[in-house]
Amino acid sequence: MPDLIDDANSDSGALLTGGLEKLWTGGEWLEGPLWLPHSQSVRFSDIPNNRILEFDRESGETQVHRTDVEYTNGRILDLDGRVVQCSHGRRAMEREVDGVVEVLVDRWTGGRFNSPNDVVVASDSTIWFTDPPYGIQPSGREGHPGEQEYGGCFVFRLDEASGVATPVITDMVHPNGLAFSPDESLLYVADTGGDEVRHIRVYDVATGEGREFVRTAGTPDGFRVDTAGRVWTSSSKAVEVFAPTGELLLTLPVPEVVSNVCFGGPNGTELYLTASTSLYRISTTVTDATWRRAPRGERAV
Ligand code: MG
Repeated sequence: MPDLIDDANSDSGALLTGGLEKLWTGGEWLEGPLWLPHSQSVRFSDIPNNRILEFDRESGETQVHRTDVEYTNGRILDLDGRVVQCSHGRRAMEREVDGVVEVLVDRWTGGRFNSPNDVVVASDSTIWFTDPPYGIQPSGREGHPGEQEYGGCFVFRLDEASGVATPVITDMVHPNGLAFSPDESLLYVADTGGDEVRHIRVYDVATGEGREFVRTAGTPDGFRVDTAGRVWTSSSKAVEVFAPTGELLLTLPVPEVVSNVCFGGPNGTELYLTASTSLYRISTTVTDATWRRAPRGERAV
């Protein structure tokens, strides 16, 4: 059982049920977990090993989904239940259907992207993604070494109808995880730009105005927002849960550094964590803010 460090002024204890389970280990650096309703499984990336894995909930087995995948990172379902994901290697946003990859966009008018990192889809079907440089660094550990072409790290919105990607946030150092508030009036974006910048910012979608939302104890990489607007974020060797007010509700210690989280399971109440070499799960009493809209096994992906 994990130790729960509860805020005395909150009902945080009611957010989790049961303990943290390690479901699989054997990766090098895991990211991009996504619940696939049609197969009741969790798909995730093992970026340095350039492969995608899947945990099957019923059997408890984890299998390799595909290899030589051009260093995929974050992924999400679009409104038709298809997987949209970030590729460091292609420096692109792509869609994968039945193992076939289609590049959606790999540049804007300012040049090629750095290495798209994480993605969400709005209810109007636009695709919003972050573009820090982690996949083009000289080490080549998470992609192919390369140069930044437009000189920044922006958040983009892709309108598939036009095929055009437009910068929507340009004032962050290394934008990373992102998610909308339940009504999509706010966009939360984590900044992992180093020791001096380790926080989640929040932007008014209508005006584009941003401010600091919270400072996390550890590094906030990926996160999700539940139906009540709480932010469930990775924070180095922990998951932290914040109220929409910014109040810290819960800290869940995790044995390894957490990169990303996603809700899944038959009722959407299970939280899956990719954390360094392993995949973990803990049961919660909440669901993702987008759970009600996501297709439920209507098509294969
Ligand atoms: Mg990330």
